[in-house]
Amino acid sequence: MRGLKISKALGSGFSCNGNTVAYLCGSNGPLNGYGLDKKQLSKIPIQARPGPSISSSYSSPLGFTIQSAVLPTAYPYLLFKGITTFGWPTGYWFFHGIIDKLKHLIGSKSSQAMVLLAMGHDKSDGKIILDKETNKIIFSPPHDPLLPQKVKAFQKITRKLGGILFMSRFRSASVHLLGGCNASSDSSDGVCDPNGQVFDPEVPGLVHQGLYVCDASLIPCSVGVNPSLTIAAAAEHVCKDLVNNVLKYKTKTCTNYVSKVVDQNPPIETHDTLKSSETSYVSVKETLRGYIGGMPCTATLRMKINLQNSNDFDDWNYSIMRKSLVTLKGKVGGYVVFRAIEKDKLHVIDGEVKMFEVNYRTPYTQYMHYRLLLAAASGSRYVLEGKKIMNPYLFAIFSRKETTTLYVTFKRVSGNFAEDHHVGLNLKGKLKVSMIQLLKTLLSLEGNGKGRFLHLFLLHLLRTYILQIPQGIHEEYTPTDSYNNSYPTSTFHELETGDGCIISCRRWNRGHSRLKFNEEKHPVLLLNGHSTESFCLPTEPNDLIRTLLTEGHEIWLLQPRLHPLNPSNNFTIEDLGRYDIPAVISKICEFHGPSMKVHVVAHCVGGLAIHIAVMGGHVSPTRIASLCCTNSSMFFKLSTLATVKMWLPLVSISMALLGKNKTLTLLDTSKASLRHRLLMYIARWIPRYERCTCNECEVFSGIFGNTFWHQNLTPTMHHWLNKRSTTKLPMAAFPHLRKICKSGFIVDSKGNNSYLIHPERIAVSTLYISGGRSLLVTPETTFLANKYVKLHQPGFRHERIVVDGFGHSDLLIGEESCKEVFPYIVSHIRLCEEGKDIVMINKEKKDRKEALDWAADPYRVASFSTWSSMSKLRLLGC
Ligand SMILES: [Zn+2]
Repeated sequence: MRGLKISKALGSGFSCNGNTVAYLCGSNGPLNGYGLDKKQLSKIPIQARPGPSISSSYSSPLGFTIQSAVLPTAYPYLLFKGITTFGWPTGYWFFHGIIDKLKHLIGSKSSQAMVLLAMGHDKSDGKIILDKETNKIIFSPPHDPLLPQKVKAFQKITRKLGGILFMSRFRSASVHLLGGCNASSDSSDGVCDPNGQVFDPEVPGLVHQGLYVCDASLIPCSVGVNPSLTIAAAAEHVCKDLVNNVLKYKTKTCTNYVSKVVDQNPPIETHDTLKSSETSYVSVKETLRGYIGGMPCTATLRMKINLQNSNDFDDWNYSIMRKSLVTLKGKVGGYVVFRAIEKDKLHVIDGEVKMFEVNYRTPYTQYMHYRLLLAAASGSRYVLEGKKIMNPYLFAIFSRKETTTLYVTFKRVSGNFAEDHHVGLNLKGKLKVSMIQLLKTLLSLEGNGKGRFLHLFLLHLLRTYILQIPQGIHEEYTPTDSYNNSYPTSTFHELETGDGCIISCRRWNRGHSRLKFNEEKHPVLLLNGHSTESFCLPTEPNDLIRTLLTEGHEIWLLQPRLHPLNPSNNFTIEDLGRYDIPAVISKICEFHGPSMKVHVVAHCVGGLAIHIAVMGGHVSPTRIASLCCTNSSMFFKLSTLATVKMWLPLVSISMALLGKNKTLTLLDTSKASLRHRLLMYIARWIPRYERCTCNECEVFSGIFGNTFWHQNLTPTMHHWLNKRSTTKLPMAAFPHLRKICKSGFIVDSKGNNSYLIHPERIAVSTLYISGGRSLLVTPETTFLANKYVKLHQPGFRHERIVVDGFGHSDLLIGEESCKEVFPYIVSHIRLCEEGKDIVMINKEKKDRKEALDWAADPYRVASFSTWSSMSKLRLLGC
């Protein structure tokens, strides 16, 4: 047999509670065994109508009770006559039967019939067995020693009342089935223990954890009276034990169950501190409403917040690296109503809230986290995780929205405590607290820590939004270990460009790959964004260079005239596409022959440059095996903040301030002229989404705007980027960059649209990647690019990906980039290596139709930050 080992007693010890059912009809007296007739039915309102019920009860000294029952009129009386009877009783001849039936049909006899039930104690030795050979259920009823007396009693009643008695001759009939999974002291004669837990018969004394019998089947004998209350009492007893066992199990192994489900790296804490009764606490009621996955959802939560740990507030030893400091935390109860997913309330069975959480990576920002494990009546388990982000951006204009909006994810998880991975459902949405609800919440505060809680709450808001005091400083972080010394070695090559400029490149030989490939793979050319390194990252365990080396590619990294190594004082983005990229490609050809193709991976300005190179006719598309751009393309759509900055004369002011030397030295320790110092000073005052405590980072993000979400970068990476890598910022190309940004697509240095008019030149397979948590450049950039190439180059494979949670350069330098982003790049290159860059031409029609459907970006967020003029593009004819 399959499944769990269960006691052999399963199915035995079955009782019918000593029941015998009989039906009496044709009596002379009005018995009223049937309920309301048609006339009564129409007069009595539905809630006042009686259901099936016991109309009279008599306990016989012989050891059983006889009851008469009232049945609904619609109940088929023939059922009793037919099923309970073997053969017709005496005096009930055929003709009589027909008349009786006719009388019943016209309703004249319904008042003269009655159902009788006798119950007592049977031997409780019935059996239900599954016959393995015939695969049929065999039922042998329990022996009932009182059956003859019961029959006699029924006959006596019939004689008194008149009429005819129908009943089973040979067996008891029951409406009160009991037993079959009998409770017992051991598994030899019972299926479960006295608490309902099912025995494991192989090990004496052991039970199957978590498997319970919780109904009439555990009652081991007849009870002799109507058993419903007995069954309810037994079920309640089992439930009490079940809850106790679950609590015991959770305190033993699952103290932090919810955070285990939600967060892969939670700080490990126990709830011991929360249990202490001496601590001050506050209880908060909160109602949040909103939409998850576009469907309405309401969360009614009760939080008990502990105020004991608030002294950790200044203890910075606690918050190193990824760990974050929590000042207030508490347990959450309550329920969630999400009718689109579950009809009934979803009850919070384990919940945690962390308020005023501070992350070392984003010292100006405060977070609030909610993690709720929800249970549905259907048995499904869900995890709702919510986050409030409080960021003092632009004089805290969004403070109200930020403090009342909870960004949530809603996942279905497997019910098993041991395996808590999410299954299928994964929705995102927002829940909000209305002003009225906020007031209600404030009024509903309870507990001895009420005053202190309010004080802390206001203090945190003041600190975040008004005073804007950072909590923890980036400067304090010094990397403990030196950067990866075993970084694959590369060779350095100096290049002279067509216009006589000296630039350089690095080459990583495929010899570093541990894997060996028979066929020759095309080299990969990497093009960085503006002045920062995105590919060769010695601080990270896996950067794109090492990822591609293991794929068996040779790698070339261009260090063009905007690289801190070769800063030019006078250049445009056009120069990069016109001279620098062709220079490195001809160098590659020196190594591999003139017909060698390269895969190009480019970021931001590098992406603009490669599009200028190809669409400007400076590099032939036949040289390019595949193209992959992150947050750039022939289009360049900026976020609202960046757009506003572009319309201000900031670039011309900067250029005037810079004077002759247009290369800014970023390092705090390096000397800078007075003019440069003034520019850097101004840059710090320019608004941006995230403030940083690192001076270099502040200057850089003042000039460009934030280029990454701090949370996505390891502190080591952040330190390396600002203190070691990005040392110089050649700003000579800014006027051209401004023209491109203002147009929204690549233009030449004079501002003319001389590239987009050559779609025939971009005859390559493309992959455009955008960050879903848009920063600096919006996903529209890749959306439009993807449409453009699909429309004009339908013969090639074109893909576009928006990666959730990433902004701009963190797509490549983020802690999770190797898991979340690189696989797309690798698979794109792999497909093109396998010759899958060409698509069947019959797909053309479909792609054309799709390409013409401009407005349908599935990733487009409906907010003012992504608006742009689409009409401009239509006029351009692309
Ligand atoms: Zn920073």
